[in-house]
Amino acid sequence: MKVGLMPSRMSSAQSRSVAARSSDCAARVLRTVTAGLKGQVRFKAPLKEWTSFRVGGPADVLVIPHDVEDLCCLLRQARAAKVRLFVIGGTNVLVRDGGIRGIVVSLSKLKAIADEPNAVVYAEAGVTMPVLLQHSISRSLSGLEWAAGIPGTVAGCVVMNAGTRLGEMKDAVKAVRIASPSGTLKDVPASAIPFSYRHARVPRGIVTGVWLQLIPGVKDHIQTVVKDYLRYRKDTQPLTMPNAGCAFKNPKPDAAGRLIEAAGLKGFRIGDAQVSEKHANFIVNRGDARADDVMALIAHVRRTVQSKAGVKLELELKIVGEP
Ligand SMILES: Cc1cc2nc3c(=O)[nH]c(=O)nc-3n(C[C@H](O)[C@H](O)[C@H](O)COP(=O)(O)OP(=O)(O)OC[C@H]3O[C@@H](n4cnc5c(N)ncnc54)[C@H](O)[C@@H]3O)c2cc1C
Repeated sequence: MKVGLMPSRMSSAQSRSVAARSSDCAARVLRTVTAGLKGQVRFKAPLKEWTSFRVGGPADVLVIPHDVEDLCCLLRQARAAKVRLFVIGGTNVLVRDGGIRGIVVSLSKLKAIADEPNAVVYAEAGVTMPVLLQHSISRSLSGLEWAAGIPGTVAGCVVMNAGTRLGEMKDAVKAVRIASPSGTLKDVPASAIPFSYRHARVPRGIVTGVWLQLIPGVKDHIQTVVKDYLRYRKDTQPLTMPNAGCAFKNPKPDAAGRLIEAAGLKGFRIGDAQVSEKHANFIVNRGDARADDVMALIAHVRRTVQSKAGVKLELELKIVGEP
């Protein structure tokens, strides 16, 4: 991102004055980039309201495009001004306390779902998995039961190759529609996207929609699998406290939660960030956690598991923004 650059070696008064001027300049650039959009544009938007963790500082600007055309317009204007965009669904990210410079995009207005022939469903990027799952159940379509209880958007779930022990996104994705950095749309078949554990190498750009290949099934059976899995989650995961899903990837064949619990860290707390007492791979916000608390807790968990079990835990959570 090219806005807000500040020279070094200055007195603090000079620095403050340059910082004020460069922040004015950055704000002007951001106003130009967001001019003429049909969707909502919110300056200094508190991102804790946009994350399931309820943690994090503000975005310089949060844009909620009205539709795909609006998003493409934003991409073109951002590219011309060399301003980077970050897309947020909000359920697997930790936004740092300083927030995110530049533009954060929420696709929460892109929420159309269309049924296509042969059990194919097209969902716009901002459709959440619970909504998509309900839609497929109502059509007696099987293939997404594994996703019961995952709160992310369908696009976020493709990018993360979200999954559970019952299945993962790559099993259901047929193709994705991507708005490229130059603001043009292209459709990419799933066969051209390398999927791996909690990651998909999606071409550069923003996912605007996903085609899912589902399977005609029996509504009662689908519902039973979904209900059972939701009950299992309720019994084993801290769903009543703000969190961002699993903090660490499972170092297969082991499980991060088992290693953290074996290291004696269940319930360990820094500030209001705590290793869940219910499931050790979840970090919960007990009310007023700061991202710094969460980061210190993550570092402590990693150090302890490394020294006790010799395993280096890899983050599943995406950490974004400024300290
Ligand atoms: C209670 C709870 C339970 C969970 N259970 C599971 C689980 O069982 N399995 C699992 O895999 N995950 C789980 N998660 C985590 C989370 O829901 C998934 O990782 C999901 O895929 C994240 O989707 P999101 O839309 O919130 O994206 P975010 O978390 O906001 O973003 C994740 C990444 O995707 C990128 N991204 C998002 N949208 C787009 C887009 N349109 N185009 C391009 N890039 C994009 C972001 O920039 C970021 O890099 C859980 C989370 C919670 C809170």
